[in-house]
Amino acid sequence: MQDFKSYTLERRPARGQLAKRLVIAAVFLVILAAGFLFLISEPDAPPQEPLLPTPEAEDSQQKKLILPLSLPGQTDTGESHRLPTAPARSIGFIKQAVAVEQEPATPTVADTPPLPETDNTHLLTYKVRSGDSLATIFKKHDLSANLLHRIVHSSDTAGKLVDIRPGEMLYLTLDKENNLLNLRLEQSKIHSLEISALDDGFKTEEISREVEPRTTHVSGVIENSLYLAAKEAGLSEKLIMQLAEIFGWDIDFALEIRAGDRFTVIFQEDYLDGEKLRDGPILAAEFINRGRSYRALRYIDAAGRSDYYTPEGRSMRKAFLRAPVDFRRISSKFTRERWHPVLGKKRPHRGVDYAAKTGTPIKAAGDGKIIHRGVKGGYGKAVIIQHGQVYTTLYAHLSRYNKKAKKGQRVQQGQIIGYVGRTGLATGPHLHYEFRVNGVYRNPLTVKLPAAKPIAKKYLADFQTVVQPLLTQLELISRTMVADAK
Ligand SMILES: [Zn+2]
Repeated sequence: MQDFKSYTLERRPARGQLAKRLVIAAVFLVILAAGFLFLISEPDAPPQEPLLPTPEAEDSQQKKLILPLSLPGQTDTGESHRLPTAPARSIGFIKQAVAVEQEPATPTVADTPPLPETDNTHLLTYKVRSGDSLATIFKKHDLSANLLHRIVHSSDTAGKLVDIRPGEMLYLTLDKENNLLNLRLEQSKIHSLEISALDDGFKTEEISREVEPRTTHVSGVIENSLYLAAKEAGLSEKLIMQLAEIFGWDIDFALEIRAGDRFTVIFQEDYLDGEKLRDGPILAAEFINRGRSYRALRYIDAAGRSDYYTPEGRSMRKAFLRAPVDFRRISSKFTRERWHPVLGKKRPHRGVDYAAKTGTPIKAAGDGKIIHRGVKGGYGKAVIIQHGQVYTTLYAHLSRYNKKAKKGQRVQQGQIIGYVGRTGLATGPHLHYEFRVNGVYRNPLTVKLPAAKPIAKKYLADFQTVVQPLLTQLELISRTMVADAK
């Protein structure tokens, strides 16, 4: 068990009452002096530069670094990843052929209307608005509630019609007497539900269009931040976050990024009818941080679970997050080894400080149990989490706690436990984060963290076969980049 008394701010033990009083008086004076210093000096946190500058980076799309790359025995379709591959020719609508990974947030709609109008039929096109239900839409078009009832109860698939969402397109084909012949709900460019009236009921089909995955890659060198460099290289926000997530276990993107750090990302893009529909997943990536190379490869096991692994098959994920706050929300980068403005001297710092706005969410670094929640001397409002027998993490100077993160409660990695503040001995809002192994303070930025499970032995051979071409490609791009830089 840990001895949490040693978490108190002062390291020297008070010897006797007099000494204790002296210390209290000294601390009081120091606080007064610090308050004065704070008033006359610049604030602890440097002025916030915009952490997520977007618009001006948008037009740099053309700068996308695409190297001509074609390796023998390697197709550019991502086939080696068991991702759906389309035949070369576009084949219109096909039935349930593709398991599509992610739908775009706002559904967009294919241009092709379902059934051509004839002399005896006409087509109603309706864009679903917020607040609409099939019942109101049917009523609007003089179609009976009874008809709707019969349709949605004709099969489980037809029952899905009830889930219409704003932005989806509804096509109704009717005859001269306003009898419904066909109904199509286009949920996205890819997915539709189609219902045809038969003599004795309805036929329902779920239709999926096949997307064509293509593989592409970008590289970049960091000057200021990962975000800016990745944006410059042409990576979408979604891919930047994916990249940060993959390497975020090893690299603290808030504090450890240096000018000259490099990255290469090989990723999938999904095409529909020859046009790019959306970004697919990252397939492989390399990040070179302060000269050290980290490589990640995506692998889907037989159970269909996809995850990222090192070339040796070790999981990229760890039992602990490297940083308990989102790297995009950190305003000051290098705050280690600073002169302690409150104590007026350079005191050994046993944790890492993340300067961030008051209210920035703080995440539990790993699964564990909250063993302390409350004011703790100079730490101010603090939370301590016990992770198994060996590890504890401490989060200090909070403005407030998360209501759900009470003492004695179990928390999961990533769960928000509190919010950045400046309670206790702090001149500006920041998170003070400590990491202890068997009671010993360790640098959270460099401590070796226990990893999640590696690739199961039975998949290892398959993993190596699958990732080899990606690894070769990463190496080739990396070499080209270095050659270009010379
Ligand atoms: Zn600190």
